[in-house]
Amino acid sequence: MKTTLKYSRREAHEVCFGGVKIGGGNPIVVQSMTNTPTADVELSVAQTKRIAEAGAEIVRLTAQGKKEGEALAPIMQRLHTEGVKAAIVADIHFTPEIAMIAAEAVDKVRINPGNFRTSNGELQRLIEICRRRGVALRIGVNHGSLAKRIFDEYGDTPEGMVASAMEFLQMCREADFHDVVVSMKSSNTRVMVHAYRLLVEAMEREGMTYPLHLGVTEAGNGIEGRIKSGVGIGALLADGIGDTLRVSLTEDPENEVPVGRIIVDYFAKREGEFEVDNIDAYSPTSFCPRTTAKPIIHSEITSEYAVIEATSMNPTHEWRAAILNREDCTPVVLRRRYEESNKERVAIYAAIDMGQLLIDGLADGVWIDAPALSDKEIEDIELMLLQASRLRFSRTEYIACPSCGRTLYDIQSTLAKIKERTSHLKDLKIGVMGCIVNGPGEMADADYGYVGSSPEHITLYRGREIVERNIHQSEALDHLIEIIKRDGRWHDPK
Ligand code: SF4
Repeated sequence: MKTTLKYSRREAHEVCFGGVKIGGGNPIVVQSMTNTPTADVELSVAQTKRIAEAGAEIVRLTAQGKKEGEALAPIMQRLHTEGVKAAIVADIHFTPEIAMIAAEAVDKVRINPGNFRTSNGELQRLIEICRRRGVALRIGVNHGSLAKRIFDEYGDTPEGMVASAMEFLQMCREADFHDVVVSMKSSNTRVMVHAYRLLVEAMEREGMTYPLHLGVTEAGNGIEGRIKSGVGIGALLADGIGDTLRVSLTEDPENEVPVGRIIVDYFAKREGEFEVDNIDAYSPTSFCPRTTAKPIIHSEITSEYAVIEATSMNPTHEWRAAILNREDCTPVVLRRRYEESNKERVAIYAAIDMGQLLIDGLADGVWIDAPALSDKEIEDIELMLLQASRLRFSRTEYIACPSCGRTLYDIQSTLAKIKERTSHLKDLKIGVMGCIVNGPGEMADADYGYVGSSPEHITLYRGREIVERNIHQSEALDHLIEIIKRDGRWHDPK
């Protein structure tokens, strides 16, 4: 049976809060998050204003404890007085009581089902406050922090993430409360994409139409962080999945907003319909590579690979149809021309266009034809794209948190120093996380972890095991390198 592939947004019901509308066919909303200590009202107001001025319609602040929760009311007051239009969200980590305090002040509350108790009627009490004040909820599932009972049953899988979200959505539905947005974040783009797709399927079976908030957690910084976000978020938006997004970068939060805008604007024109003869050959929720060929960049192409160039405004579907309609199993290289001269834009566009095909195992190589960029720049982007899609690891991968009000050291300069000393190591994943409360869970599959444990002090991990506790930051990087050396995974840069 023939199927037509074309771009159309998934239908989601509208959720309104703080003057912002998500879902219901409204444009995709870009948001970001502060990294100031929320209890410092002056700093938090100033940064929220800068993020809003950069174009974010929603700004999130962490509220990990009572003093941060109680700072939200004066922050809201100040933002209102100063005419800041962005809707304000409180990010709750563990404590239902703080969620209740926050819900009395802000426009939306994000809770993590992995940490939020469902006994004692806490969620119902929170819903009643939200209903009374017109506050929305986000059920924000994180791959790295699933509840123990979910983890024991499913492991840290996309299926476990979906089970966790559905449990909370059912409770919201039973309470007849529908101002709910859902997210399924992971730093692993394949896990993230599969989790959202599985969630959409599960919601459709239940007749649910909650809007979706997209994001790749701990994407890192620079071009690498932009490519990783472009791959994960772009793979979903290409199929019309997603109503709001945050690009998480280990940079000043204002930098996240223009990247989010580039992604959203890139989907403004997605013309092009493509027929597929046999869509059943395609599995959107499991990784079934079409061939066993080595994933390559364009300078490595040999005669065994077929090059398919996409020229339409809807390249993802154009490629998907062309590959699924092939009768042979020749490995495929995706080629596309980018006239753009800005390197960051070329990287983001290519990540959006090609990421989905790589994540789904349909393509085996990439060829970015960008005459304005040097050969070295193109090769770097192509390698980063294969790595962000988890097909080929050619450099150290950094799982770096974007930082927030909990961060215990200067994560931006530290990440730069760690990269400087370790980026030549292949096949290593290093987690660089701001706090010990969420960091170890969020860096999930890192080989080593550099985690803030008290102000300016670091705890070092090998996988999930603590190797050294609470070392001063001035010595922590040397200690990390010693551990990598002792493990026989170090070599000097060439
Ligand atoms: S891991 Fe980073 S972003 Fe997450 S709570 Fe800790 S400091 Fe904040």
